[in-house]
Amino acid sequence: MSELQQRMVQLCQQLNDASHAYYVLDAPTLADTVYDRLYRELQDLEAQHPDLITPDSPTQRVGDRPSPQFESIRHDIPLYSLENAFDQGEFTAWETRWQRQAQAEIGKIPDYAYVCELKIDGSAIALTYKDGLFVRGLTRGDGTIGEEITPNVKTIRSIPLRLRDENPPATVEVRGEAFLPIATFEAINRDRLARDEAAFANPRNAAAGTLRQLDPRIVADRQLSFFSYTLHLPNTPSEHQPQTQSDALKQLEQWGFQVNPNRCRCQTAAEVAAYYDRWDSERHDLPYMTDGVVVKLDSVALQNQLGFTQKFPRWAIALKYPAEEVPTIVRAIAVQVGRTGALTPVAELDPVTLAGTTVSRATLHNADRIAELDLHVGDTVIVRKAGEIIPEVVRVLPDLRPTTARAYTMPHACPDCGSPTVKPENEAVTRCINASCPAILRGSLSHWASRGAMDIDGLGDKLIEQLVDRRWVTSIAGLYQRLTVDMVARLDRMGRKSATNLVAAIEASKQQPWERLLYGLGIRHVGSVNAKAIANRFTTVDQLAAASAAEIAEVYGVGSEIATSIVSWFAQDANRQLIAQLREAGLQLQIDTDAIATVSDNLGDRPLAGKTFVLTGTLPTLKRSEAKAKIERAGGKVTGSVSKKTDFVVAGEAAGSKLDQAQTLGITVLSEAEFLQQFG
Ligand code: NAD
Repeated sequence: MSELQQRMVQLCQQLNDASHAYYVLDAPTLADTVYDRLYRELQDLEAQHPDLITPDSPTQRVGDRPSPQFESIRHDIPLYSLENAFDQGEFTAWETRWQRQAQAEIGKIPDYAYVCELKIDGSAIALTYKDGLFVRGLTRGDGTIGEEITPNVKTIRSIPLRLRDENPPATVEVRGEAFLPIATFEAINRDRLARDEAAFANPRNAAAGTLRQLDPRIVADRQLSFFSYTLHLPNTPSEHQPQTQSDALKQLEQWGFQVNPNRCRCQTAAEVAAYYDRWDSERHDLPYMTDGVVVKLDSVALQNQLGFTQKFPRWAIALKYPAEEVPTIVRAIAVQVGRTGALTPVAELDPVTLAGTTVSRATLHNADRIAELDLHVGDTVIVRKAGEIIPEVVRVLPDLRPTTARAYTMPHACPDCGSPTVKPENEAVTRCINASCPAILRGSLSHWASRGAMDIDGLGDKLIEQLVDRRWVTSIAGLYQRLTVDMVARLDRMGRKSATNLVAAIEASKQQPWERLLYGLGIRHVGSVNAKAIANRFTTVDQLAAASAAEIAEVYGVGSEIATSIVSWFAQDANRQLIAQLREAGLQLQIDTDAIATVSDNLGDRPLAGKTFVLTGTLPTLKRSEAKAKIERAGGKVTGSVSKKTDFVVAGEAAGSKLDQAQTLGITVLSEAEFLQQFG
């Protein structure tokens, strides 16, 4: 069997199993969105290879076989399903298709309008009325044959047992959605769990399960509701039939049916899109579940003209809301090396749209997670993205595993530097422990430059990659040793101006306080809050380097894991060398306590609260750290670069580009004397 054939057979099997669990057992094994995508994949493969369509394919029928517990009855008019559109592009394709067909059949695209309705997530039923009296209720079943559930339907209060019409048509067939309001669904599940019964997966399955209860008293208890949306008048002459879907819905209302009020007649695709967008958020406030919008052509004449495919009306389409769980295939597993040397496996996926964005990679966390998932390369997996969280692989669909799938083992060598990797016995993470691994260096630099650390504006990952690749920077200290504007200007996508700004930003970062520097070093487990607490207790790097783990652990909020991590960091020669180089480059490796003391004596309240300062050039009497401490004690803030948010620039001798920038932006520039006079 070819790989393609194998895939088609597996998809058929998987979908048929899922359908059985869904329609017959009312206990789904797949999320609807996952089912929909696999179904679409099979449909596409069948369209390309019609010779490979099997008679048992789920695309060849609607629903599932009716259950033998109920009497099976043939529908007078088949109940169709709806074609799905997962995005605007698919809606446009459908619109083009029906218009082309109309053009071919009647020589023009007639005037038209759409009716948009909410797609209620329940179970379709067909109701027959004879001379105005309700006589029979059927489930949809497989679309051709349904299950007779008349006594159960009679328990649904929103279904009239007699039409409110003195002179009703001889035969009326009404279709619509039986559903459970969310609150009722939740109450039923609470009750079931209390009685040790399995909870229903969702309101739709609960509604379907309820309709097919053998005891109508249980059905009555569950309080199903019903929205009607289709009217058939089989023996009525066409001049007495409703001419539009809008009229049919009005008629249903007049007869006493509940029709969903949130419908809208739209003239254009743009109006349809606006309706869809509006209900994407507002539907969450409705007391019942919806999973999309059904768009129907309003004119019944046009509907008749277009007709049906084997499964769907050509004149309607369901526009589904974005899915948060979808299936896709893992084509490869790549490994990323982070700043701590941790190797993170990342699944490379066939791109899929998930919650409105295209996803082609998902994190697999570590080797243990891969083993737990039993993930092979080539597997079909379900990816999920809830809110802003990075997409992740939730589970594997083993029934769709191709014979060519390969098990995966984490590499024994670092993919970046080639040195052997290590996986400690009781840890899930595999690591590269080569201190000069370029991947680790890139990660360290990126952390160093980040907002919470040294906040070096303009030093992004692309730039870091080039600096490391050219070996211009081989450690954090390297940023302060060789880089010149001329060098930086030679890098990709760098002009002279941005090179000047970057070099200035690196220079300015030398003034960042000791607590930020400590955090920027990227010592394992040391976060920004801990770094601040530690820097306040150990006010110089030398004090910290000399401290024992027990002494460090005394700091409030710092546990022994952090303390041990700091001690072992300072124990390494390379790290001590880094500190020496940073000292030499003039970075802040201590808090200037003398300055703080003087300033606190001199200053009263916090007169500089909310003010932002930038210091530039050499001040005549104050050291930078002193000026900075003064400002901070008075409630102000000192930043490294000039922006519109800067309130004052204090400029000394040989002030450079920051002074120029301040003048361009019209920011007040003070000399040290002016500064001391006003704020000192
Ligand atoms: P469908 O649910 O995608 O769309 C058709 C149905 O929409 C109609 O039959 C009707 O019941 C309903 N509907 C709600 N409001 C409507 C309105 N205003 N106008 C017209 N119809 C309206 O298609 P389907 O054929 O009922 O079922 C297929 C769906 O069932 C799939 O999309 C899938 O999500 C679900 N399914 C899931 C599994 C699973 O394993 N999770 C298995 C089988 C089927």
